[in-house]
Amino acid sequence: MANKRDYYEVLGVNKSATDDELKKAYRQLAKKYHPDANIDNKKEAEAKFKEVSEAYEVLSDKQKRTMYDQFGHNGPQGFGGGNPGGGHYSYSSVYEDLGGFDDIFSFFTGGRNPNRASSARRGADLRYNMEISFEDAYFGVEKEFVINKNVQCETCHGTKAKPGSSVETCSMCGGTGQIKQNVTILMGMQMQTTKTCPNCNGEGKKIKEPCPDCKGKGQVRKQVKISVKIPAGIDEGQMVAIRGEGEPGEKGGPKGDLYIVVHIKSSNIFTRKGDHVLCDIPITFTQATLGAEIEVPLVGGEKEKYKIPEGTQTGTKHTLRGKGFKNTRGSWNGDLIFTVVVQTPKKLSPEQRKILLELAKTMNEQPPIKKKGIFG
Ligand SMILES: [Zn+2]
Ligand SMILES: [Zn+2]
Repeated sequence: MANKRDYYEVLGVNKSATDDELKKAYRQLAKKYHPDANIDNKKEAEAKFKEVSEAYEVLSDKQKRTMYDQFGHNGPQGFGGGNPGGGHYSYSSVYEDLGGFDDIFSFFTGGRNPNRASSARRGADLRYNMEISFEDAYFGVEKEFVINKNVQCETCHGTKAKPGSSVETCSMCGGTGQIKQNVTILMGMQMQTTKTCPNCNGEGKKIKEPCPDCKGKGQVRKQVKISVKIPAGIDEGQMVAIRGEGEPGEKGGPKGDLYIVVHIKSSNIFTRKGDHVLCDIPITFTQATLGAEIEVPLVGGEKEKYKIPEGTQTGTKHTLRGKGFKNTRGSWNGDLIFTVVVQTPKKLSPEQRKILLELAKTMNEQPPIKKKGIFG
């Protein structure tokens, strides 16, 4: 979405806000913008309310907040590969401790909204593990994959009733999904409590004929093809969120999100350290001694020429600036740092041996052994 406001700005808190500060800010704003409290400009208030709720939803969740801090709104929308059909599971418990909308609604209406049978519930978030190559992590990639997930039933649009069949308001609870009960406590004193209506199981209505396609569940299990963009520079274990690709909500609640957890295959040539790409480059002892122009492999298959100086020692590190991973939080790149490894020849031709023997005569002794403390 373009021009989305920063979530911290939406809630009017700073980036280091604690959970309590977030909750407090959210409650105040949710109260202020609740559509019921803004009859005159309901539309605008509703939009604000949604914005605030979304911001809180993300920032109150540790994982999501970390990801938001990392990628912002423009966080990539996903990527692909991996293990089709498997490897994803839902974790619906994520939102349970939020208090959610239920809490918020009762917070400013002084109780359940009588028009709502019971509160809307957000759909479960899903998680999918995806394996990508070292090169894909470097350049970014768009991937398609297939997952099995619950989606809203197309026949009944989630109403659970057979299309055209009658749905009656529950006579026991009058559609609220709850019934009040008087309970006698001490010395005949009475207290009123509410419980879920047993006649409609809290639905507030009685479906005469359940939808045949979803058997009255309102959702069906389906294979869904999803496409995701993985950003260049993503690192092992980082996630890409696809909003609204989780499971459908209940009773008008929003859909959950799909999280793609990225796993990066190792490369035969390169390793990674933060945004830097590391590799070893073998050189001959004559190249090391005389200096040489060598070819350094870059991620993706290209090569770059590099001059190593005369007298290069084995283990020396050299840097190609900006040839590392793109930093996902900024516009800079890491470096490619290579270590030269001097190879000692294992076999010599008679001619090479002759030349080397000549050379050896001029070099005579073993070099002095380094003393620790002076040379490290
Ligand atoms: Zn259905
Ligand atoms: Zn009922």
